[in-house]
Amino acid sequence: MSTSKVGYDDVYDLQSKRLSVKKPEVRYDKQGDMADDERVEKAMLHFVKDFGSMAATYLDTCVHCGICAEACHYYKVTGDPKYTPIWKLEPFKQAYKREASPFAFFYRLLGLKKKLTVEELEEWQHLLYDSCTVCGRCSLICPMGIDIASMISLARHGMFKAGLVPHELHAVAERAEVDGSPLGVTPTVFADRLEWMEDEHEVDINVDQEQADVLVVMSSIEIQKYPQSMAATAKILNAAGENWTFRTDGFEATNFGMLSGNAEWQRDMSMRVIDAAVKIGAKKLILPECGHAYMALRWMGANMYGKPLPFEVVHISEYLAETLNSGKIKVNKVDTSVAYHDPCQVSRRGGATQAARDVLGHLGVEQREMKPSGDYNWCCGGGGGVVTIHRADDLRYKVFKIKMDQVEETEADELITSCANCRQTFDDGQEHFHWKYTMGSLLELVAENLEEDKQ
Ligand code: SF4
Ligand code: SF4
Repeated sequence: MSTSKVGYDDVYDLQSKRLSVKKPEVRYDKQGDMADDERVEKAMLHFVKDFGSMAATYLDTCVHCGICAEACHYYKVTGDPKYTPIWKLEPFKQAYKREASPFAFFYRLLGLKKKLTVEELEEWQHLLYDSCTVCGRCSLICPMGIDIASMISLARHGMFKAGLVPHELHAVAERAEVDGSPLGVTPTVFADRLEWMEDEHEVDINVDQEQADVLVVMSSIEIQKYPQSMAATAKILNAAGENWTFRTDGFEATNFGMLSGNAEWQRDMSMRVIDAAVKIGAKKLILPECGHAYMALRWMGANMYGKPLPFEVVHISEYLAETLNSGKIKVNKVDTSVAYHDPCQVSRRGGATQAARDVLGHLGVEQREMKPSGDYNWCCGGGGGVVTIHRADDLRYKVFKIKMDQVEETEADELITSCANCRQTFDDGQEHFHWKYTMGSLLELVAENLEEDKQ
């Protein structure tokens, strides 16, 4: 169930004689029919339960220097103190001090930390979801090493349990849990689209092999919006001589369980892919151009599995760099200049910053770095599930202007990334601002320029 705190305010304009519909200034969404007290209890319980000793140490070590504010694109474009990263954790901090800190008893006795109200939690829905892409720029910059982005993800667990998730994000996460894909890509749809790409691009695509060294997965955004990326992947893996396959029982790389804050759904989504890889005896899992899939499976996959994964996990940009560096595939030189947008979850939070640059080096393009770029790159504004939340659009477009300025300053011919979610955010921004730059894909650039005699 979704409710609006402030409803649409219809206004009849006497002068224009038209009905104008005023957008709600703030809207909070709720799921389920819990009483307000129960929501607060659930949120508090999970905020406290999810505190590891690391999170507690983080909350105790903040020296309130405010440096993280300047790192956050939301604070940068608004100057509003409520968008300071550490402020986004305030309810989390209050719950910790009141319920789990060494002085919790005294805080409660002396009333120094008040119990949260449902109104406060509703307000924080905007701060934890609409205005945080979990980009990790604040974590990188904090002099005390506080990983604010990871704690925001933990805070989302409590919000999910309290039924306080933006409804679009909740809906796509639920769809992914029930149907296996946030965009309704069933195994049959996936197989059909692969067959279409196989014909369209005249490339052999392996599906449902019972044994393979390499399992390749895709994101629903690619399957539905950029299907050519499936053909590009097949073309490259065939050229590299891999024993590989797609599987219809484990193809979806996105993880909206993680983005929405539902840890159980996160595990289910990861396990579909892990089970498929184990079943075929894969030695390597190649993740697609999707930033958060890299976080979910490369860095959190073993936690979901409960033990080390029996296969290597690599992002497609790492795979491309590895195969080009080893000479397994070769590419023709491309006479153009490129500005590369680092997906936050692949570069800053994933550590694979150099891979794309190696690939562009093999392509011989003139690389024009944005300022800043690499680990310090500004986020596109669409990560962390934000791109699904429509009420966040205006703020997202403000943030996107930072990227536009960065790209324009490079004066590069082309703009390239290695994340379909970033690409979709750029496509949307391009349409909104009638912008001249079209975002391209690193994977597709390699596939288009493969040396024929190496295929
Ligand atoms: S930069 Fe770190 S220490 Fe400074 S206010 Fe932010 S979280 Fe606290
Ligand atoms: S993770 Fe990114 S968006 Fe979220 S508070 Fe930190 S800098 Fe801002």
